[in-house]
Amino acid sequence: MTTSGKNVLGWQVSEAELRAWLDTLIEGNASVVAPVQVQHQRLYRALTNSAEATFESGKTEWSPKEFLFPRSEVLFSFSKRGNRIQLSDPPAANQNQVIVGVRSCDATGLKRLDAVFLDQQQDLLYSQRRENTTVVGLACDAPDPECFCTAVGISPVGSEGCDLQLAAIDENTWLLCPITERGRRLAEDTCTAWMPATQADVEVLGQHEHRVAEEIHRQPLADTCSSILEDSFDHPVWKRLAETCLGCSICASVCPSCSCFDMNHEGDAWGGSQYRSWDGCTFGLFTKHASGHNPRSTKGHRFRQRVLHKFAFRKPDEPFRCVGCGRCLDLCPAGLDIHAAVRRVVESAPEGVT
Ligand code: SF4
Ligand code: SF4
Repeated sequence: MTTSGKNVLGWQVSEAELRAWLDTLIEGNASVVAPVQVQHQRLYRALTNSAEATFESGKTEWSPKEFLFPRSEVLFSFSKRGNRIQLSDPPAANQNQVIVGVRSCDATGLKRLDAVFLDQQQDLLYSQRRENTTVVGLACDAPDPECFCTAVGISPVGSEGCDLQLAAIDENTWLLCPITERGRRLAEDTCTAWMPATQADVEVLGQHEHRVAEEIHRQPLADTCSSILEDSFDHPVWKRLAETCLGCSICASVCPSCSCFDMNHEGDAWGGSQYRSWDGCTFGLFTKHASGHNPRSTKGHRFRQRVLHKFAFRKPDEPFRCVGCGRCLDLCPAGLDIHAAVRRVVESAPEGVT
C-alpha cells in the first residue's frame, strides 16, 4: 500500500502526527485556524502552534464563518486631494488558510454562505478568501444537548463543505479522509509517512453517526413545513412566540449560515472608508427606512422573518438554511428555540394547510 494515490481511503494519523502536520502548515505560512480554549469558551482562532488547538467533543461557541465573512471589513477606501478623488481596494485576502476541526453543521453552514456569496453573485472579498481556504472537517462523536443536525437532514459525520475530514478512531488515533481534490493535494503535499487507513478504520464514521443520531432527540422537520410556515404568515402565534425576544441578534451572530450585513462609512470629506458589518434581522432597525417607516415594526414580524428565512424562503430543491447547530437556542438570553418555534407554528396551522 502507498500513502498517496487516488485510491487511498484516507490515512491513520496519530495525535502527534496530526499536530506535527498542523505545525508544518503553520511553518509553511498558512493561517491555521482551529478550536482553542479561551477561558471558559471554545472559539476558532488562528494558531501560533498546534498545541493551542483542542479537538475534544462538542462544538465551538461561535461558528468559523468569520474566517470567510468577517464581522466587519473594509470594502474600499477613498481620499481627496484637490479635485482628485482616489479609490483603493482593501488588501487582497490571499493568504492560504486551513480551518481545522469543523463540525458537519458548520461545514454545511459554509456551503450555505457559498450559496449567497458565490452562487447568487460573486462577492469579491468572500470568493478570494474561499479560494484560499481548505476546510478540514471533524466528524461528531457526541452531540451537545441543543444540537439538532439530524432534524434538518444533516449527518453528524457528513462531509459537505469539507476538503478533508477527521474522525477519532481512538483516544490517540485519527482517521483523515480526503473529500475533495484540493484536500487530497494538501495532505499528500505535506504529510510525511502516514499509514493508509483500512476499511475497518473508515467504518468508525458509521459508528459515530449511529451513536450521535441516537442521542439527538429533536423531531425531524419535514420538507412540508416550509409551505405551512409561509401559509401561516399572518398567524397570531408569531406575536406570542416573539414576546420575550430582546432584539439582541445574538442568534444571527453565532449562526453559521446567517449572511446579512449592513454597510456604513467612516471618515470625512477628505478620506475614509466604506465597510460592511454583520447585521441581524431581529434588530429593530434592520429594515427601518430613512423615511421612518419600518415594514417589520414588531418583534413578531422580525422573529417570523428569521424563522421563514431559515426554513421557508427557498426553492423546492434547496435545503433549509438552518443547519441545526443549536447555537441560537443555547445562547439566546430569552430562551427562544427556533426548532420548537417551527413545530409550534406547524402545529398551530389551521387544518388543511399543508
Ligand atoms: S431570538 Fe433570542 S438571541 Fe435572537 S434577538 Fe431575540 S432574544 Fe436575542
Ligand atoms: S438558526 Fe440556529 S440552529 Fe439553525 S444554524 Fe443558525 S444558529 Fe444554528
